[in-house]
Parts: sequence; C-alpha cells; structure tokens
Amino acid sequence: MSDLFHLGCPVCRRRFSGEATTICPACFYPTSITYDLDAVRQRISHEAVQARPRDIWRYQELLPVTPGAGGLAGVGWTPLIPAPRLGRKLGSGDVLLKDDAACFPTLSFKDRVVAVALAAARELGYGVVGCASTGNLANAVAAQAARAGLTSWILVPADLEAAKLLGTAVYGAHLVRVAGTYDQVNRLCLEISERHGWGFVNVNLRPFYAEGSKTVAFEIAEQLGWRLPDNVVVPMAGGSQLTRIARGFQELVDVGLVPAHPVRIFGAQAEGCSPIVTAFLEGSRQVVPQVPQTICRSLAIGDPADGYTALEAMTSSGGGAGLASDPEIRQGIRILAESEGILGETAAGVTVAVAGRLLAEGRIGAGDTTVLCITGNGLKTLECLDGHLDLGAPLDPSMAAFEARHAQLAGAA
Ligand SMILES: *Cc1c(COP(=O)(O)O)cnc(C)c1O
Ligand SMILES: [Zn+2]
Repeated sequence: MSDLFHLGCPVCRRRFSGEATTICPACFYPTSITYDLDAVRQRISHEAVQARPRDIWRYQELLPVTPGAGGLAGVGWTPLIPAPRLGRKLGSGDVLLKDDAACFPTLSFKDRVVAVALAAARELGYGVVGCASTGNLANAVAAQAARAGLTSWILVPADLEAAKLLGTAVYGAHLVRVAGTYDQVNRLCLEISERHGWGFVNVNLRPFYAEGSKTVAFEIAEQLGWRLPDNVVVPMAGGSQLTRIARGFQELVDVGLVPAHPVRIFGAQAEGCSPIVTAFLEGSRQVVPQVPQTICRSLAIGDPADGYTALEAMTSSGGGAGLASDPEIRQGIRILAESEGILGETAAGVTVAVAGRLLAEGRIGAGDTTVLCITGNGLKTLECLDGHLDLGAPLDPSMAAFEARHAQLAGAA
C-alpha cells in the first residue's frame, strides 16, 4: 500500500499491513487509518487536486487506497446547491445542500464509502464482499460489486422498502433478508465474515469504509472555494459519516488546503431511533441502545458503532443535535421538494426538519453559512408518502371535466 497511510491501533500504535484488522489484538481498541499529514502536505495542492477528474479520487492522498489501484471512477463530486427558498422557509439567509441524492451509481452517499472499501478489498485480495445494511449500503455494495466482478452477500432486515430490496437483488447479489433488526443483522455479519473470510465493507473493512465519508467534507470545502462552512447538519445512523466529515474538515486545515475555521457539527436522528441524539441532549457520553421504530429505515441503527465519536465531534465543535418525528420527516421531505425541487429520502426529511428546529431555537445562526447533507434519494422511499399526498380522483378525459377541476383546485390555492 501507499507510504502516506497505514492501518493501526490509536492506543498502542501497532500497525497492521495486508490484513483487515478492525480490533487491535493487544488492547481491543478499534483500529483506524492514520496518514502522514506532513508528507501529504508536501504533495497535495489546490492545483494538483483541481487537475484531476471530478470524483472522490481527486483527494487520493487523503484516502486509504494506493493511487491507481482501481477504485470506481465517477463516484462523488455531487452538487453543492444554494437553497435560498428553503433557507427562507427555515429562517436562514445562507443554506446550501450537499446533494448526495445524485451520487453515482446508486443515489446515496454510501457509494462513497463502498468505493473506498471495495478498492481496499481488492488490494487485500478479497474475492467475496458483503455488508449488513439498512438499505442504501445494500444497493451500493450490490452495484459496485457487480461492476468489479466480485461476488456479494448482502444481509438486511427483511421488511425494508421495495427499492432497497429490489434495487439490490437486481444486480445479481446474494440478498439475504433477515427476520430481525439491523443490529441483529450486523452481529450475524461479524460471525459470517470471520467464518468465511469474506470482506464485509462495514464490518472487517470498516476502517477503510469510514474514510470514504471524508470526501463529503473535502468536496464541500472545495466547492465553497477552498473554505469551510460555519455549520453542517448531518443525519446519523451509526454515526460514522458525521464523525468523518468533522475529521475531513480538520485534515484539510492540517494539510494547508483551507484556512482554519471552526465548523459546528450538528447531528440529526429520527425520534423513533435516537440513541446518539438522546445521549447528547442528556449531556451524557453513554449511548444506550434502542429498538428502532421509525419510517426512516436508513437511519434505524439502535446500537451505533460510532456513537461515542459522533458525540465527541458534536460537543467539541460547539455544535448540537436534534430529533424529528415521523410526521416532521414527511414534512421535511415535502418542504425540500417544494422549495428546491429536490426529492430526498426519509433521512433528508430528518435533516431538513432538524435544521429548521435548530434555526428556530437559535442554535444555528440565521446569518451563518450552513450546509445540509442530503444523503439519499427519495425515489427509494416513496412508500412513506403513500396516502399523504392528494393525487386526486381520475378525471374524465373531457375539457368540461378539466375546467371543473381547474376551478376547484385554483380556488383552493
Ligand atoms: C447510512 C446512511 C446515513 C448514516 O450513516 P452513518 O455513517 O451510519 O451514520 C445517512 N443517510 C443515509 C441516506 C444513509 O443511508
Ligand atoms: Zn493496540
């Protein structure tokens, strides 16, 4: 692998090369990737980055993959969209959307983490890959494994949304629907990965997977003209993305690509699955597991692996956290769609609702630059709107019938 990074134990500093060790055998602490940031600083520059293709690999010095090792091209570099109409509704003058609902190839931010994990899997020699998923990760692993010619095994809770299930099976993945919660699926995958020696992207390949989320932060900074925003609002499931976005901003400062600027990190969860936000609001560092019950299936992780580090990131940045109920999630989806023409999934509804609450409470300043992370596409979770939008009765194909409808609807507006 490259000389710029290594997989190691942050406690005893042991290094692990050529193997996907997730827990240090000496101190039982989770392993992570460490970069030689002084060496990166020597090699990276605005010009070098900007000369490369517009995807996550333009930040190759800060990713745990050997350059040219064959990561999927075209992933990432999603739009950063000014959202003035949404901002007016929420009470802020400067809101931007990081729109990973448009991410290649499967329309969620999980394409980023999977691209990095599968590139690492290839370098480490795994022929079979897999994941435990709440849906979007399943889509991303299935699609990218198909493209890479890898066999994939994908385990999910049995009753996910149709697009998450069909949109996984269609790629020829071995889809296993488990009659249980995500947390049960995840424990099963840990055993499977050990027994069969497969590369599970969010289990034994997790240190690599997690690094992919930093590219959200890198792109936000570059798209703002190499500067950092004041606030970022991030939906949380396991808490990995939020933690790594915070880390990504810091790394850009450390390697000299952006001037230092404090970014307040805000986390968002659904009321029906809120282990991290509940701990934050209680001022506790103890994340108590929950059994999820929410329409936001993508964020339904009751026992979050990165809960503690997410709490750290929110607290130490001076950020905050908030919750959204199921009706508020639907409302958030509709406000986003009606004001900006962007259809986000349930996680986006959580983010928009929580951003509105934080602005209303003055936790986020109205004059700040605030980025909302829209992490997945609403076409995958349309079920949650079933029965909540008026589609109208079928119309007789006559002009008279249309004029009657026109008078009725225009009068109502
Ligand atoms: C997985 C997921 C998240 C949260 O990711 P974590 O890193 O587990 O916190 C957010 N949004 C969507 C749409 C997701 O699929
Ligand atoms: Zn150790």
